[in-house]
Amino acid sequence: MKDDISEIKPVLSHPRDVVILSHRNPDGDAIGSSLAMKMYLESRGHFVKCILPSEYPDNFEWLPGVKDFMIHDLQPDECNKVVKKADLFLCLDFNSLDRVDKLGMAVAENKTAFKWLMDHHLDPEPFADYYYCDDSASSTCELVYRFMDEMGEKDKIKGVLADCIYTGIITDTGSFHHATNPDLFRMIAEMKEKGLDDTRLQNNIFNNQSEKQMRLLGYCLGKRLVVDEEKSIGLVFLSRKDYQNFNIQRGDTEGIINHILKIRTVKLAAFITAQPRIVKLSLRSKGDISVQALARDHFNGGGHFNASGGYMHAPLSKVIDKFWEHAGDYIK
Ligand code: 5GP
Ligand code: MN
Repeated sequence: MKDDISEIKPVLSHPRDVVILSHRNPDGDAIGSSLAMKMYLESRGHFVKCILPSEYPDNFEWLPGVKDFMIHDLQPDECNKVVKKADLFLCLDFNSLDRVDKLGMAVAENKTAFKWLMDHHLDPEPFADYYYCDDSASSTCELVYRFMDEMGEKDKIKGVLADCIYTGIITDTGSFHHATNPDLFRMIAEMKEKGLDDTRLQNNIFNNQSEKQMRLLGYCLGKRLVVDEEKSIGLVFLSRKDYQNFNIQRGDTEGIINHILKIRTVKLAAFITAQPRIVKLSLRSKGDISVQALARDHFNGGGHFNASGGYMHAPLSKVIDKFWEHAGDYIK
């Protein structure tokens, strides 16, 4: 769903109070696309605030500008005030307002502001006035690049702005392992020609784990991994007690699910965690297995064909049982 670029040009032709929003548990794509679009819109004379429902993981702290994010969980009143005053919302890297929790309601209540959605998830919901969405894009950051190109302002994609775009692309593609396309590599080449230090960024993002995170990974693979060879499914789960014992904080479990998929015989991987109020599922698959369908049909969720998530209000053991009951149906 992609509206014509000519429709957004008049919206951006005079200074606006812009609020950029992205999703809970923000990843590199949410953070990178928000910061890149903030820089771009500020360069055109707009006033921009970035809001996230929850905090960002420590391993993105090196990104310039990341400390200016307003976090709704920490400062709800300030965030709501800014949302009320906004006359343009730019929603990045999510496809329905319930993905930003209470912020979604606040956005819906601001009836006069223009709503713009830029995203690469399947099935965007019809809440926006302008859609710059394409589920064939690797990442929202790829769409940010395409957008600036279509606006005739590709020259702005350099320095820190290019670093932000690259961050979203490598986190969402697992360093070019999945969801790539030929244009994406052309974009990377152009950024590299303009001085992108990709090795530094790869190190900042992927070789930036704490000892605790590595030990937690060891625990997950050593003690919490269940593999059903016959069904080609691998599962890791973490209980509330595990969260206490390891003092698990936001971001500490990032990427654990990718290790399950490294097993030769595993085609579908699940990472199921008991959070304070919900049980959260992360789902990944190889090839033509749709975890989006599994998340949508049984776990109130969605996302991408090969990477989705969902949640349930139920005890951990019930969620795990339900997962084993249904997951096999999605293996081809
Ligand atoms: P993750 O497993 O990294 O949390 O999420 C993988 C993908 O699934 C992301 O693209 C994310 O947007 C999507 N996703 C995760 N949780 C949910 C959810 O509860 N609902 C929906 N609709 N999508 C989700
Ligand atoms: Mn994304």
